[in-house]
Amino acid sequence: MLVVMQAQATEEQVRAVCQKIEKLGYRAHSMPGAQRTAIGITGNKGEVEQGTLEEMPGVQEVIKVSKPYKLVSRDVKQDNTVIRFSGTAATIGGQGLAIVAGPCAIENRDQAFAVAEAVQQSGARFFRGGVWKPRSSPYAFQGLGEKGWKIMSEIREAFGLKIVTEALEESHVDLIEQYGDVIQIGARNMQNFSLLRKTGRSKLPVLLKRGMAATLEEWLLAAEYIMAEGNYNVILCERGVRTFAQHTRNTLDLASVPAIRRISHLPVIVDPSHGTGSAYMVTPLARAGVAVGADGLMVEVHNHPELALSDGAQALTPSEYAQLVREVCSIRGITPPVNQNGLATKGNA
Ligand code: PEP
Ligand code: MN
Repeated sequence: MLVVMQAQATEEQVRAVCQKIEKLGYRAHSMPGAQRTAIGITGNKGEVEQGTLEEMPGVQEVIKVSKPYKLVSRDVKQDNTVIRFSGTAATIGGQGLAIVAGPCAIENRDQAFAVAEAVQQSGARFFRGGVWKPRSSPYAFQGLGEKGWKIMSEIREAFGLKIVTEALEESHVDLIEQYGDVIQIGARNMQNFSLLRKTGRSKLPVLLKRGMAATLEEWLLAAEYIMAEGNYNVILCERGVRTFAQHTRNTLDLASVPAIRRISHLPVIVDPSHGTGSAYMVTPLARAGVAVGADGLMVEVHNHPELALSDGAQALTPSEYAQLVREVCSIRGITPPVNQNGLATKGNA
């Protein structure tokens, strides 16, 4: 159920409706928009008694939401969600192009600092790097763990980049809250419902990767798990799905970008690194992702891809990555946020 408030409804009227919903034993999610505020109702098994809410001051109408997801939907919020970060002009969603770049995994201080410098010089605002790695083999490099997390906190301090890292377990969410800026939920955990709920109670934005066999509906419902707990800052990340293709690691489903855009107000970014698995395909698919309207990109970069402890085959070198940034900015029609000296200017990439 969804309560649509009148355009001129006061904050007090919105609050009164929320209180009424909570009194009925449900949860109210107030979503202010440019035109009007809508209040999503969750926690109800069946229909909510419409009359009690419809007659309240400031209410325009009470609508039944027939789709399985509610809070992710444009029915609740028509305007695109823009995620803002304190102390910086960086946003995800909106006009700019958010580029999240960095190595697959934090391997050591020198590697992480070299890549962070390249990422900062390209003008990107977000640094990614796995501290805890979900690997198919238990014998493969599992990430540096807390040692890597310390390096991340130093990078945040030294470069002023916003830190994006993946939480594999609930305890990681608490650690990321201390020194991180965005919690990544990886493809393998897209339906780890207790982990999703935990991130839903966090104050940090959540970057939710699409599961490798997930339909759009399952992906949106995973986002709904997070939002239903009260965290409305969710970024969807298309990273490809498994198909019969042998020429790529995954099949990057770029049609999901306009499909999501139609259904949901949440920002959506594209990961052409995991989406292809090969460095030579990353830039072409990054260009395609921006051309279909993605709000940003997630790209793996390594100072020595041939020595990488994970995903080296898909890592761009810093110069290949800098070229990618120039190309995607030109497609998006924005000035690359790097000046003649290679120093980052105030752009939003
Ligand atoms: C990653 O971003 O390093 C990663 C493990 O990605 P995914 O969850 O998409 O496989
Ligand atoms: Mn990786």
